[in-house]
Order: sequence, then structure tokens, then C-alpha cells
Amino acid sequence: AGIEQLPAGDFSLYDHVLDAAFAFDLVPARFRALNLNGIDLYFAMARGVAGGRGTETLEMTKWFDTNYHYIVPELTGEEEFSLTRNTPLEIYQEGAGLGFNVRPAMLGPVSLLYLSKFKRDGKSPLHLLERCTAGYATLLKRLSAAGADWVQLDEPVLVLDLDEDFRNAFRICYERLAKEAPAIKILLATYFGPLRENLALAQSLSINALHLDLVRGREQLDEAIRNRPDHLTLSLGLVDGRNIWKTDLKRALGTIEEAARVMPPERIFLAPSCSLLHVPVDLKGETALNPEIRNWLAFGVQKLEEVSLLTRGLNEGRDAVRSELEENARAIEARRSSGLVSKEAVRRRLAELNDSQLIRTSPHAVRSRRQRDALSLPLLPTTTIGSFPQTEQLRRERLRWKKGELTAGDYEQFIRREIEHAIRCQEEIALDVLVHGEAERNDMVEYFGELLEGFAFTENGWVQSYGSRCVKPPIIYGDVARRAPMTVDWWQFAQSLTDRAVKGMLTGPVTILQWSFVRDDQPRRDTCFQLALAIRDETVDLENAGCRVIQIDEPALREGLPLRKDDTGKYVQWAVDCFRLASSGIQDVTQLHTHMCYANFNDIVDAIAAMDADVISLESARSQMELLHAFAGDHYANDIGPGVYEVHSPRVPETEEMIALLERALQVIPAQRLWVNPDCGLKTRRWEEVIPSLTNMVSAAVELRKILNVDRN
Ligand code: GLN
Ligand code: ZN
Repeated sequence: AGIEQLPAGDFSLYDHVLDAAFAFDLVPARFRALNLNGIDLYFAMARGVAGGRGTETLEMTKWFDTNYHYIVPELTGEEEFSLTRNTPLEIYQEGAGLGFNVRPAMLGPVSLLYLSKFKRDGKSPLHLLERCTAGYATLLKRLSAAGADWVQLDEPVLVLDLDEDFRNAFRICYERLAKEAPAIKILLATYFGPLRENLALAQSLSINALHLDLVRGREQLDEAIRNRPDHLTLSLGLVDGRNIWKTDLKRALGTIEEAARVMPPERIFLAPSCSLLHVPVDLKGETALNPEIRNWLAFGVQKLEEVSLLTRGLNEGRDAVRSELEENARAIEARRSSGLVSKEAVRRRLAELNDSQLIRTSPHAVRSRRQRDALSLPLLPTTTIGSFPQTEQLRRERLRWKKGELTAGDYEQFIRREIEHAIRCQEEIALDVLVHGEAERNDMVEYFGELLEGFAFTENGWVQSYGSRCVKPPIIYGDVARRAPMTVDWWQFAQSLTDRAVKGMLTGPVTILQWSFVRDDQPRRDTCFQLALAIRDETVDLENAGCRVIQIDEPALREGLPLRKDDTGKYVQWAVDCFRLASSGIQDVTQLHTHMCYANFNDIVDAIAAMDADVISLESARSQMELLHAFAGDHYANDIGPGVYEVHSPRVPETEEMIALLERALQVIPAQRLWVNPDCGLKTRRWEEVIPSLTNMVSAAVELRKILNVDRN
């Protein structure tokens, strides 16, 4: 695409944080004991070892506010940070050998420490700062000796609220790096937000270039220019690395030209706002997209072309890129004025919203009595989170149907048989509240997106989620509206097979928003309210069809939390309002469930309480119910189902261990409010694992009911 300096080493076999940890030999003892080498050891840390006892994989957690998961390095305080695997050097040599101008890129030292898990009570990972810095210094010296002019160190933690110790760590670390490897130039990259009070700190470091995310933090540019030390290059991230819309090139070029008037142009780099890991690779193969919408989009390859074009515009003047700029301006204008985007009816409904639509008729205490009478559930009711195994056969049949090899009728028959199987299994196991199993859903967001107006889908728009798992986020390009009921028929069929209550299963508005590419021509909040209205209509239709328990999943609510404390209040307010708008159209007697996972819930307990679901199921087995303390006492008054077993492993949990976990839960949650369920949906498991696991889970509940001998009411 004409990019002049190529970051290298940011391609990873599994994850770039693990890559940094692995380079510096941050291998926990339990993996060393396996006597594996190279790539086998690397994958053992990421994915575990089949049948290997005591070799739990490293934890995985969300990368800032993205849907990408990184591997969390574990530190004990004994680590030496010796550079045992100099992959950055090898990659540099390979790239340079091919004649490219390569800039080795990797996670920076302070972010590495910050993002690791320090397993030593009362001590900060900064305890390791000196050794960590020494390790990086060695790396920089070797790169420099091999001929590298530049190195890129990513320090995204600079966009977070940092305490003084971490801010100081930056000063100490970068001063030493510059001293020990003076010949190599450091580009320090920040992204996902403005630096705010950390901007002055970053500009004072002994570095040669600072990359700024100007999509998320346009406001920091003026100050960055004003306070720029003479030697410091600014790398301007004006092309959005987190979203798929074309850049408004004239506007971006205007910003760049302004910068070039007040600082030397040779001190300007141009780049995407962040890594392109978060967008699909290439728009070229997307032939099925509506051409009108396609013309508004830019994926990874197109974004590089945009960077390159902006560079030419700056270096050679606007005339040199006139026709490209005009073409871009036409696309930007076409999107702005397109008839596809705006829907009058949706806008009117939102304008007429009132607060009474955000509250259920009665408070939970009243509702829960009505629901109990209607559902006649035992103490410690058992349920699951929604999905059952998406078997090989199920995926094959779906693919055949999509390719036209299977008729819609035959596919539907097949799904009905899957649902019937799921219901029969659950009856056999004697679960209390059943689910239909979500066999008809490829993905919990894509399924709804495909049925809603305002969404577009790509064929190959895959984005890495973790390891070899990718997701294909839908694109929300216009006002969202529901054409017709989306889940009622499947639910009705499932309920017709059994006397036990079957949950209606919906994905919540915040999660649909969070896991899609969202339009950038209105606030995210507004799009979320539109989604909430659509889900609300669905809950009412389910209820009218006779559904007595409805679950609205919001696993992504936590990850949407802004990175800075000061910004969280507003988000929590509208996110909770959206959930409440989606869920408050139903009557008291209908029991509302929600589910969350993948996160630490401590900092959003109040938000969870404000969502006012009758029951929440949470991932918690891995943390041994630790997180429940946040829900103890007055913090949370509704029912709660802390997961009693981990669903990401094929292991079948024993009844006794689940009893033990439930006993821990009972220390903080009264029995009358406790539910029994797994951590999350079971779609990645096999039936051979699911049936014994759930059988043991139900036994655990039955055993405890005997011991507890408390009245359900
Ligand atoms: N109902 C969904 C399922 O069971 C929830 C998935 C999730 O929490 N990520 O698959
Ligand atoms: Zn989940």
C-alpha cells in the first residue's frame, strides 16, 4: 500500500502479550515442569495440556475495551526477564533480509508489568521493574546491533488512570532504555483513548516518537503539539483501527496540514489509530454486500491505503491526490445523505420515550412472590445459561442450508429435532427451568442482527477474538428496527414439548452493540436505545405467547465500560437504562433473567443491581465464588446463580466439588435467593460432557436441599 515503515512482530501465533512474556521467559513453574520446548511450551501456556493435571492455562482476559482476549502473564516476583527467545530479532532479520524497512513492534515493559497478574500478596509488579527494564534493554541493544533504527514499544496503559508509582516507572524505565541502547529510536505507541494527564509524562520520556490515537482522542493533539519537545516525532493516528468506516480524508488531511504548519513535517508520522487486529482484513472479497453500503467501508487493507494517501497528500500537496480525495468525499457524502440510514418511525418512538417504560410494575420483592407462585420452583432451582452443544453435525447442516444444499423446510425439521433432543435431555436430568438450546443460532449477536433492520453482514469479515477463534461482527449502518418476532416460534415449539418452564432467550442491547461494528454518525448510546426497543418488543411477544421466564444476556456490559473512571458514570447510566427499556415491558409474574460472564464484576455491582433482573447468572467457578462477596449484604437483593462449574474445559465436575462451591456461596447469599447453574452456555462442549456434568450439578442441588431443609418462601 506504500507504507514506508512496517511494524513487524505484531503477528502472533496466539497472542502478543504472551509473545512478550515468552520472549522474556516468563514461564510459570507448572509449565516448566512439563519439559516442553519452543512452540509446544508456548501453546501449553495458552491452551493447556490434554489430561494434564495442575497445568491450568494462563488466564485470558479482555484487551482494554475490545472483544479481543489476551493471555495474562503470571509473575511471582522471582522472574529474571532473561531474553531467552529473541523472536523480535529473528523477525526483524527476516523482514530486513527481504529488503523491507521494518520496525520491530512489541508490548512495552511497563504495560507488560501492569497487565500481568502478580501472585504475591501485598507487592506490586513494579517490584520487578528493574529486571524487566534490563531485559528490554538487552533486546533493544541486540536489535540495534542487528541494524534496526527504530523499535515500537506499545504502552497502552498510558490511556488508563495510573497511580504515581506506575507513572514513575515510566520515567525510570525509559531513561534507562535510552541510556543503554542510545542508537535505536523508540516509538512509544498509545491507543484506545486520550492520554490526558499522562500526555505530559509521555512527552517528557526519553523516546523519539509518540503515537497518539486521534480517533478516540482528537482533543489531545493541540496540547501534544504545543508541548512537544523539539526532537519528538508525533505519530498521528487518524485512521480508525477499531471500526470499519471510511476515513473522511479531507478532514483528516486538514488536521495533518494544520499540524504541519506549526511543527516540522519531518517530525510527523501517519498511522492507523491502533493495531489493525480489530478490523477485518480486506473489503475486496465482499461481493455480497449492498454496493451502496460497501462504498462506505474500509477494512485493514483499505485503511493502509488511506494512511498512504494522507501521507502523499501531506508530502506532495492536495493536488497530487485530488481525484482520490474527491472520490472519498463523494462516499462520505453518500453515506450522510443515504435513504438507508434513517427511519422515521424509530426516531419518533425514541423521542416519545418516557421514564415509566424503564421500570417494572412492582419492585422485585413483590414480583418474586408472584413468580414463585406461578412457577412453583424448588429451593435452589437448577437451570442452564442457554446454549447446548453446537455439534459438528449441526454446523454442517447449517452450512448446507446456507449453501442451498438443504431446503429451509428440511433445515427447520433438523433444528426441531435438536430442540426436542435438548428438552428430553433436560427433563431426564430433571433440571427445573429449561432452555431450548439455541441450536438455530450460529452466534448470539449475528442471529439477531440478521433478523433486524439496519444491519449488514460480511462474508469474510473475521476478527480475532482469541487464539484461533474469530468472530464476524455485524455492521450496524442505520436505524435499527424489528421486522417480525425473532424467537417466538422456536420458543413455542420447545415449550409445547414439556410442562416445565422453558426460558425465552434473548441477547441484550448492550451486548449486540458491543459486539458489532457500530455506526459513528450518532452516539453509541442512541444506537443502543434503538436496539433496546427491538428487544423490548420481542419480550412482549414472548410473554403474549405464554412464556413465563425470559432471559436477556448481557455478557458484554462490563467490557463496554470506559477505560477512565471519570467516564464510567455516563456509560453505566445509559447501558442500564437500555437494559431496563428492553426488559420492563413485561408483567410482574414473568421472571426476568440476565447473564454475565468474562469479567470481574466488582466495579459494576451497583449497575447490575440497577438492572433489576429477577435473577442473574454469573461466571464464578474459576474464581471459587470469590466474586460473590461483592453481591453480599445490601449490595444486591435479587436472586443470583453463581456458576458452579467452568464450561471452557471438557472436564466433568464432581457433585462434591459443586456442593462445596454452593456451600461457599451460601455463606454470602441466602438459600432462598440462590440458583444453581453452570458458568456460561454449553455450546462449545459435547453432549457426552454436558449430560454427566449437569446430572452431577442437579445432584448437588438435591443433596443441598436435603441438608438445608429451609422453606422456599
Ligand atoms: N445464552 C448464551 C449461551 O448460552 C450466553 C452466551 C454468553 O454468555 N456469552 O450461549
Ligand atoms: Zn456467558
